[in-house]
Amino acid sequence: MKLRFWGVRGSVPTPGPKTVKYGGNTSCIEIRGDKNELLIIDAGTGLRELGNYLISNDLPEGPLHINILLTHTHWDHIQGFPFFGPAFIPSSKINFHGPVNAMGKKLEEIVSGQMAYSYFPIKLNELRADIKFKEIREEEFELGPFKVSTCYLNHPILCLGYRITYKNKTIVTLYDNEPYRNIFAEKRSEQENHDHFDDEAIHEAEQYVKAQNQKILDFAEGTDLLVFDAQYTQEEYKTKVGWGHSTIEHAIQAGIFTRCKKLALFHHDPVRSDKELDALQVQTIDKAKQMGDNNIIVFFARERLEVSV
Ligand SMILES: [Zn+2]
Ligand SMILES: [Zn+2]
Repeated sequence: MKLRFWGVRGSVPTPGPKTVKYGGNTSCIEIRGDKNELLIIDAGTGLRELGNYLISNDLPEGPLHINILLTHTHWDHIQGFPFFGPAFIPSSKINFHGPVNAMGKKLEEIVSGQMAYSYFPIKLNELRADIKFKEIREEEFELGPFKVSTCYLNHPILCLGYRITYKNKTIVTLYDNEPYRNIFAEKRSEQENHDHFDDEAIHEAEQYVKAQNQKILDFAEGTDLLVFDAQYTQEEYKTKVGWGHSTIEHAIQAGIFTRCKKLALFHHDPVRSDKELDALQVQTIDKAKQMGDNNIIVFFARERLEVSV
């Protein structure tokens, strides 16, 4: 199985001279089986270029049947879709799979909402391809030769991690995820008078938080490639608590705990330049060694990088 990154940036596209090496497109990942079978994760702006690639390389072989797994529906994970060339071709079949929405909106409504006439000249139902939407929860299913399982992550909207199994190999994506934390214990430590705190309840919350974080790590156990949220450094995170993202340090820990073989740091912060990412990459490899790892291959994801598992 092979994975290729088409968009690695978090939050907003960041074109320009400072992001040429790692790329400025938002989340989009192409996965291929040994016989070129295709699976796409996320429809950020990287999807536009992937669409052009599919039209040049796959369409000559026959009509495009495309499965797109959405981790969630924040802008940076759906905004490439209106510019996805295969959606304009009548023979294309496109199946979206994405998390149910707790706010009562259908997946189709949310994705097509970005194409409302005020924002975009072409409506979803005017696209020529056959496009379908399927809402999913924590579950397991098959898409052609790929076995897919899902796990809820900690993000300000329902967001899914994916575990893709093909033959004996696995790829896991865990991004747009912030480690769960015990906000009751945080409140307690902020205040001098602890009389009105129920220590037992706080302890129970602590156990729950640990279990939820462990559940996510268990989901990725032993994977060949782990694509992990590494938007912030530990220092930056102090002012971004609750925004739904992890730190580079947490990503390394996750790589070590899950005993993954390769760890791709993903969803780079928009402020991050190529120069900074290069420097962070060196520090990160050192840090991973200090934290006790000598086996995991750690790298920062960049556009067009292909990784085999
Ligand atoms: Zn995101
Ligand atoms: Zn998000």
